[in-house]
Amino acid sequence: MHWRRSVSEEELSPKGSGYLTMQSFFNHCIFCFRPLSHGERKSDGEHVIPEFLHGSLCIKDVCPQCNSLLGSEADHLALEDERIIAASFALDLPELQNRIIDRGKGVFVDEEDRSERAVKFKGGKPRIVPRKVRENLLETDEKDAPTHLRNILARLPPKGLKKGEIEKLSQELMWRYENIEPGESVHEPRLDMTLRKLRGEIKHQFKTTPNAAHRLIAKIALEFSLYAFNRDRLVTIPALDEIYTVALNGGELRNTTLMYPISPFSPVVTDPKEPKYFHQIILYYGDVGNLLDIYFFGCVGFRLSLREDDPSLFGPMKVDGKDVSMISILMTFEPNKPKERYLFSRTPEDKTPREWNATTSL
Ligand SMILES: [Zn+2]
Repeated sequence: MHWRRSVSEEELSPKGSGYLTMQSFFNHCIFCFRPLSHGERKSDGEHVIPEFLHGSLCIKDVCPQCNSLLGSEADHLALEDERIIAASFALDLPELQNRIIDRGKGVFVDEEDRSERAVKFKGGKPRIVPRKVRENLLETDEKDAPTHLRNILARLPPKGLKKGEIEKLSQELMWRYENIEPGESVHEPRLDMTLRKLRGEIKHQFKTTPNAAHRLIAKIALEFSLYAFNRDRLVTIPALDEIYTVALNGGELRNTTLMYPISPFSPVVTDPKEPKYFHQIILYYGDVGNLLDIYFFGCVGFRLSLREDDPSLFGPMKVDGKDVSMISILMTFEPNKPKERYLFSRTPEDKTPREWNATTSL
């Protein structure tokens, strides 16, 4: 098998869907090593940075089973990382914020008796689990009131009333309920039913896990390294086993592999004070080793040391026939604007990075 070690405009191809899809380099799934059929390569592929984080870089060399496993485990766990949560809320990205809210938990504190009850979140909106105080007293929030009332009346229809009458009376009761203030109640004697509109406060708590993003970082590092290094160098990367294990099984990366703080040369600030609408992956081949920087939202940065012990690392990858000392992919996702992609490379002699026409090549 011939392993690629260069990037050309043909190798990084446009897909036309706003995604950037890197052409298939391998004959097998890079995670489970199962051979991939032609049909399995037809799908969008695996998003290197998850789609829900507005990533737009895809690779084709992941089988559907591994893609689904990584999506549900490695990718979604990143929503529990405090730095990613902070950056997501500093940006106006409602869908992403709702996903983060939904993973958390909430509690409703009743203003009247200080009682608490569980709150679930769906699409970022709270749903208070209703409380049936007595058979004929329902405390509920406005959204769910019609459904709960209908369910109770269907289960325990009031005696001596016809179906049509029950329906008419419950509609009237609902109309009156809609027009009362939180904390007030409405009563319908013929249905023997009281509805109390809840008044209180919903407290939301984010679900956070220490170092939750490590598995996603390991996955991105593995995927990117496989495309950026040639085979001979790849097998000698000391951190490769570690990032493979963490990507597939979870766990944390050692702090000799995932290093803090981020380099002073990075566009990143320590705190997500000024998030921007872009992600960036940068690979340096330098005299301090091979470094991979991954930046989410232009501010949350993770730096991996892939190889620390080789002083002459220029040029495992070539662009346009020349050794490179740095390669960078930058992907934007500003709301209501087309996604932009940029590719930069730098050779050891370059003073400034060279920009490639990534609109057509990426
Ligand atoms: Zn697989």
